[in-house]
Amino acid sequence: MRTQVGIVGSGPAGLLLSQLLHLQGIEAVILERRSRHYVEGRIRAGVLEQGTVDVLSEAGVGERMRCEGLVHEGIQLSVHGRLHRVDFKALVGGAVTVYGQTEVTKDLINARLAADGQIAFEAEDVTIHGFDGDQPRIRFRQDGRRRELACDFIAGCDGFHGVCRQSVPQAALTIHERVYPFAWLGMLVEAPPVSDELIYAYHERGFALFSMRSPARSRLYIQCTPDEDLDAWPDQRIWDELRARLGGETADALPTGPSIEKSFAPMRSFVAEPMRFGRLFLAGDAAHIVPPTGAKGLNLAVADVRVLARGLAAFYTSGRTDLLESYSATCLRRVWKAQRFSWWMTSMLHRFPGRNPYDDRVQLAELDYLVSSRAAQQALAENYVGLPFEAEE
Ligand SMILES: Cc1cc2nc3c(=O)[nH]c(=O)nc-3n(C[C@H](O)[C@H](O)[C@H](O)COP(=O)(O)OP(=O)(O)OC[C@H]3O[C@@H](n4cnc5c(N)ncnc54)[C@H](O)[C@@H]3O)c2cc1C
Repeated sequence: MRTQVGIVGSGPAGLLLSQLLHLQGIEAVILERRSRHYVEGRIRAGVLEQGTVDVLSEAGVGERMRCEGLVHEGIQLSVHGRLHRVDFKALVGGAVTVYGQTEVTKDLINARLAADGQIAFEAEDVTIHGFDGDQPRIRFRQDGRRRELACDFIAGCDGFHGVCRQSVPQAALTIHERVYPFAWLGMLVEAPPVSDELIYAYHERGFALFSMRSPARSRLYIQCTPDEDLDAWPDQRIWDELRARLGGETADALPTGPSIEKSFAPMRSFVAEPMRFGRLFLAGDAAHIVPPTGAKGLNLAVADVRVLARGLAAFYTSGRTDLLESYSATCLRRVWKAQRFSWWMTSMLHRFPGRNPYDDRVQLAELDYLVSSRAAQQALAENYVGLPFEAEE
């Protein structure tokens, strides 16, 4: 088998890259470890920056998102039960779109398959070779048979636990990492949202986030310890905890309903630098992850592959290599700003067990400053709706 770009992973990064390349007349094959059913059902992110919405629309997969996505012009901050609105439209003239990652994934898979795009689901034992030379190859097993895909470039879009980053010699990578002493317990429920906008709640019992996926489905998160047992969290306990942390009128008005899914998300900040090794390009969670408080993970994956698709298009149309050479530096500028924002939102809104009380007081002062200062809210809004793509992106 041969193709121009071999892509490992059919998350948002791999799927969108393949779609953007297709629109440029560049061939790609995706190798995905999981089944289509599994990939389409994975519950994850839900907040799309305007830039992400634009890229998906330009990629020809924006139709359902424009009909079903919920445009949010602000968020609510709840501090000890009191709500404060951050008005994105008034502060920075922007908005975000709430549209589940599952839906983005389905739209991309449908678009790829409708155009005869090649996605090899349930590709096992994927290994990558020769990316430091000019004949990269991807070996894998499918239906019990060993296979090899020869390509010009490999895109490592295989997420945090994938094989591509781990195939790079350790000495060639610099890892930056911060692990937080808490996790999120998430629950997707058949219940209408209590609020038109997301509510980020600081409370002495811990952080809570009220969000939604549609007018009929809510997505709830509460801060918990990293080693919790899911069985210890029946639905009622999660509702009670959420109510306690949201407080006030929101807690009283909260509609409840049956849960559809529950899961833990560990909280970690991670960047592997650089994002390119010869003919291997890492994109999305394969290169960096953020705690979900800033809603940046999916958006960064989209920003990376936008840069990569442009670099590959320039290479194939005119032989230019400069955009591929600057790929890592270009992406990392945005990545580090999203790292900073995600770390800041996480640090400001969570309780840190066993911390110096001085730090707790500074945290409360930070929140007090934020809810009382237009300048501070403007900085939050600018980052939350998404920093503009730079010219070279
Ligand atoms: C539980 C959870 C909750 C999250 N919540 C939010 C949120 O609320 N907001 C937000 O912005 N972000 C959130 N994120 C982050 C966001 O979902 C990710 O940033 C996004 O999925 C990144 O897309 P990706 O394509 O880079 O990686 P992924 O979506 O991880 O896709 C990688 C793909 O590669 C495949 N793969 C892995 N290893 C191999 C292999 N060896 N061979 C072949 N295929 C392989 C995987 O099966 C997967 O399909 C969350 C992440 C998790 C894990």
